Amino acid sequence: MAQLPHHVDDDLVWSEWRSPRRPAPALFLDRDGVIIEDTGHLHKVHDIEMIAGVEQVIAEANRRGVHVVVVTNQSGIGQGLFRWEDFAEVQGHILEVLAAAGAHIDAVLACPFTYHGDGPLVHADHPARKPNPGMLLKAAEALHVDLTRSWIVGDRATDMGAGRNAGIRGGLHVLTGAGPEERPLALAERRTGFDVHPVDSVAGALEMLVREF
Ligand SMILES: [Mg+2]
Repeated sequence: MAQLPHHVDDDLVWSEWRSPRRPAPALFLDRDGVIIEDTGHLHKVHDIEMIAGVEQVIAEANRRGVHVVVVTNQSGIGQGLFRWEDFAEVQGHILEVLAAAGAHIDAVLACPFTYHGDGPLVHADHPARKPNPGMLLKAAEALHVDLTRSWIVGDRATDMGAGRNAGIRGGLHVLTGAGPEERPLALAERRTGFDVHPVDSVAGALEMLVREF
């Protein structure tokens, strides 16, 4: 078997720790449709288009001492549509763009499992694949995240579900990416103790950061 990139753990989840462990809440961010436009299994640097306002939101979370954690389902890897090396290149570019704007990501988790087809990464309901909370819980343990004060921003109902299943405070559902068709399902993830707030885009998280942190 080929050697895995060094960020891919034994659980086969990309788990990249970019900041030290420190007790604090987290802002969990989905990637495709939240940080960058979702072109469908995006894996080429020239397809990257940053979503307006994301740099300011991340920089504000940084200033307020909130961990910024990317949690992204990347089933294209499990389906053999692209490789971890492609993912790494795309991530490298996104992190550079953010760094140029003074914005820092504290951790990146990516789940390669898929329920389509066959192969080692096919799994009917992998615990790391959103709406399951595995990536959020793994980050919480590694970084010492206060889940009860944490939020997730996502364009799909499964992002909200992952937040709810992890026991965090709430989710912000955006209208970028798959947001418009997902909105009713996303709002249906509301429960007592788990808020789902509709916003236009990730830029709408600024208000939440100011209010909550
Ligand atoms: Mg998405």
